[in-house]
Amino acid sequence: MNLRIAGTVRESVVDGPGVRLVIFGQGCPHQCPECHNPETHDPNGGREETIEDLLNILKSTLLIKGITFSGGEPFYQVDAFATLGEKVKAMGKGYDIVTYTGYLFEELLALSEINKDYYRLLEITDLLVDGPYLREDKDLALAFRGSRNQRVINVKASLKVGEAVLVS
Ligand code: SF4
Repeated sequence: MNLRIAGTVRESVVDGPGVRLVIFGQGCPHQCPECHNPETHDPNGGREETIEDLLNILKSTLLIKGITFSGGEPFYQVDAFATLGEKVKAMGKGYDIVTYTGYLFEELLALSEINKDYYRLLEITDLLVDGPYLREDKDLALAFRGSRNQRVINVKASLKVGEAVLVS
């Protein structure tokens, strides 16, 4: 299976806790004003990578705490990102997964009722940073996110209780 990506960063410290491999998915429907990654919006842009090649980048990068799915919108290629995440978890190395999305957690739960791949991607995500980037709520002091409306959500706890449990 292939994933269309805008790029990767091997050792990021700003896209979640610890040192992380970041995969920027290509394609985003949200059109947030002043988005910092407008080159990721076109679903036909970027390049294709196989999931195996992306896993090989992870295997060849030392001292990595986890992997971050960013964009673009990872849920735009929900089956491919869910499959990649399942394979990362199946490696048994304890990598955690952070997923960025312009959707709200509640919207993703509703979409999961229509398409189970949304639930698959939620299930393998440890931390979800949700909501669109809002320029009026921009705050450069925030960790891992660009605007105050965006939430950092503990997904496992949230799926248990059926509502967003925020990381304090
Ligand atoms: S969701 Fe992210 S990539 Fe998409 S428009 Fe908003 S800020 Fe840009």
